[in-house]
Amino acid sequence: MFLATERQIALEAVQAACRACRLVEGDLTGASLDKDDRSPVTVADFASQAVVSIALGRAFPDLHIVGEEDASALRDPAHAALADRVVATVRRVDPASGDADAVLAAIDRGRDTGGPKGRFWVLDPIDGTKGFLRHDQYAVALALVEDGRVVLGVLGCPNLPQVGRAPSADTGCLFVAVRGQGAWSRSIDDPTETRIHVDRVHNPARARFCESVEKSHSAQDVAARVAARLGITAPPYRIDSQCKYAAVARGDASIYLRLPTRKDYVEKAWDHAAGWAVVTEAGGVVTDTRGAALDFSRGRLLDRNPGVVATSGPIHGRVVDAVQKILGS
Ligand code: AMP
Ligand code: MG
Repeated sequence: MFLATERQIALEAVQAACRACRLVEGDLTGASLDKDDRSPVTVADFASQAVVSIALGRAFPDLHIVGEEDASALRDPAHAALADRVVATVRRVDPASGDADAVLAAIDRGRDTGGPKGRFWVLDPIDGTKGFLRHDQYAVALALVEDGRVVLGVLGCPNLPQVGRAPSADTGCLFVAVRGQGAWSRSIDDPTETRIHVDRVHNPARARFCESVEKSHSAQDVAARVAARLGITAPPYRIDSQCKYAAVARGDASIYLRLPTRKDYVEKAWDHAAGWAVVTEAGGVVTDTRGAALDFSRGRLLDRNPGVVATSGPIHGRVVDAVQKILGS
C-alpha cells in the first residue's frame, strides 16, 4: 500500500512523542521558557521534536524535517537545567536516543526550509503549547509533504476525549490519514483503528464551528459575525491546537474558522499540514479565507494563504462567502 511504512513509522513516532508530553505534563514546574516572540516553549516541545526526529531518522536516514523548534535556547548555559530535563525525558521514552549532543542535533534537524520539490516532514512537536500548560488540549502534529503536496498526516491528541466533546475519563487519540486511503482514528494505547468521516450537514445554520481558545490566534469577534450571517446559533466550540481539525474530521463540529487577527500574520506550515490531511481524507475541505488551496510548497510558511477555513464539505462555498462578506465589510 502507498506509504505503508511511512504511515506506521509516523504513528509510532507520534505515539512515543505523546508519551514524552504526558511525562512532562505530570510536572510542569520550571518546565517552560518564553521564546523571542514571547510564546511559551516547554521541555515537552523540545523532547517531542527530538523523539519524532530520532524515530524518523532511524527509518529514513536522509530525511528532511520542517519543525517548529530548534535547540538554540537549550545550548544557552542559562537553560542547562531545562536541557537536562529534555534529554532525560527523551531517554525515558527512547532509551537508545543517544547522548545530549545527539538529542540536540535531532531537534536541530527541524531547521529544514522545505520547498516545492522532494520529500520533507512537517512537525509541530506540541501544537497548542498554551493548552498544554493549562492541562487542556494540545496535539503532536506530523505530516509528510511530497513535491509540495501533503500525502500523510498524523495527529496525536493526548487529552482529547475518545468520543465527542464532553470531558471523559477515556482520553488520548491518534488520527492518521494517507492520500486516497481515508482518515482513521484510534486510541493512543490501542492500535485498533476506526474510519472517521465529517458530518453531513447541508444547512450552514445547523453547523457548529470551532475556533482557538486564544483570542490572539484567531479573530473571535469576526467569527461571531460570520456565524450570525450563516444563521448559526450553537455556541463556538473553543479548543486549542489541531484538535480542531480532528473535531471537524470526526463530526464533532462542521466548521473550523481561523481568521486573521492582523494583516501581517503568516500561518505556519506545521500548524496545518497534518490537520489538512486528516480533514481532507475524512471527506472535508480546507482552504484559506479566500477559498484558495493551502500551498505547502512554500516551505515553512503558508505565505500565500490568509487564514484557514475547514469544513465538512457541502457548506464550504457558503462559509467562505460569508467570511469574505464579513472581512470585506
Ligand atoms: P491554537 O491552538 O489554535 O490557538 O493555535 C496555536 C498556534 O497558533 C501556535 O502554534 C502558533 O503557531 C499560532 N499563532 C500564534 N500567533 C498567532 C496569530 N496571531 N494568528 C494565528 N496563529 C497564531
Ligand atoms: Mg503550533
